[in-house]
Amino acid sequence: MLRRYFSPDQYFEKFDDATPAFLLRNGIRALILDIDNTLAPYEEPEPNERVLAWFSALKENGISAAFVSNNDHERVSRFNQKIGIPMYPKGKKPLKKFMRRAIQALGVPPENTAIMGDQIFTDVWAGRNVGIRCIVVPPIKDKTDPFTKFKRLLERPVMRYYRKHHKEETENNEE
Ligand SMILES: [Mg+2]
Repeated sequence: MLRRYFSPDQYFEKFDDATPAFLLRNGIRALILDIDNTLAPYEEPEPNERVLAWFSALKENGISAAFVSNNDHERVSRFNQKIGIPMYPKGKKPLKKFMRRAIQALGVPPENTAIMGDQIFTDVWAGRNVGIRCIVVPPIKDKTDPFTKFKRLLERPVMRYYRKHHKEETENNEE
């Protein structure tokens, strides 16, 4: 079923709720990251202190990371200046090509790799296409153009599915 296919494996309110402890507990040792609206709004060219602190924590815990962004080289390379991880601008998510390259560069088996992003039909789809786990966060500052609004509308049933089934999972785990 489509709603199930696109439903993320995990939803967090903010990117740094995905703590090293959470990631390691779930066997995730490598992260493919979206930038725009996941780690920073479009208009912020550089990572803020919180982003940098989170990357340091990942590194300290041996979790590797790479950027796969659909934005251009200028945006991604400037954002990556202080972080310095493998990067794939114009990454053409949800297509597989650069996702595969990123997984290869990270050197961790796909079952121990996850993607984190803010868009179901870009980031989750890209993750599903290469068989890795998918973490979703809400967009930091969403665009308001009609196309974005339409995409968000399509995401709603997927997130409803996630909330319903994830709640059941959590309840089952608590038993
Ligand atoms: Mg994004």
